[in-house]
Amino acid sequence: MSTLNQASDYQKNRILVEAAIAAAARRAGRNPQDIRLIGVTKTVPPEDVSPLLDAGIREFGENRWQQAKPKLESPRASEAVWHFIGRLQTNKIKYVVPHFAWIHSIDSFELAQAVSDYTARWDKPINVLIQVNVSGELSKGGLSPDDVVAAAKRIHLLPGLRLTGLMTMAPEEEMPEATRTVFSGLRQLLSEVQSELGDPKVCELSMGMSNDFEIAVEEGATMVRIGRRLMDPSYHHHS
Ligand SMILES: *Cc1c(COP(=O)(O)O)cnc(C)c1O
Repeated sequence: MSTLNQASDYQKNRILVEAAIAAAARRAGRNPQDIRLIGVTKTVPPEDVSPLLDAGIREFGENRWQQAKPKLESPRASEAVWHFIGRLQTNKIKYVVPHFAWIHSIDSFELAQAVSDYTARWDKPINVLIQVNVSGELSKGGLSPDDVVAAAKRIHLLPGLRLTGLMTMAPEEEMPEATRTVFSGLRQLLSEVQSELGDPKVCELSMGMSNDFEIAVEEGATMVRIGRRLMDPSYHHHS
């Protein structure tokens, strides 16, 4: 993949994506300001952190510690809010927690507990989302929908973290419309979790990527995770 490197190119892409988010929000009678754009930077080199910030992208998503590390060590890294969105191995918790404000990929109570044990020591509460495998694809991570409410109840009680919502990845579909039931399924699951916990602050839905974020926004996404559509000049979406 070629990289853009120019703040002006990144800015052009950001404006297009934000306009598409706003249009999708309005179609659903939502306020576009309620949707947070996370730029997934996993494919960009560390020297692009600065142009991305200059382009007005403030929230960065990374799915592997090894790829994130050089970017987190770049001079302006602290100006961004970092989201960990990939599978988190227990032995990486100690690296991830100090740098990331959000972890979207909590896929077991045991992982949540290990994160909580670590953050409690640092007095640094971290925002977490439970990843749900709504589609049931074997290749996808996340808890089965049937296990989410019970896990959420236990994770909600952990002292070192703040449970903020749910995350999912939809299958790669030729027709983005086919992802709609996955997103509406996650929204329904969140309302179940909210009423079981009696906590309206558990309200985030992290769903939607380059190919399907408009549908995710129509279905209630509060965070979209966009990689290729922002970072890759040759990307053209399917629809
Ligand atoms: C790579 C990645 C994204 C972004 O995907 P694009 O299709 O490039 O927008 C979003 N979420 C997760 C978990 C990812 O790993």
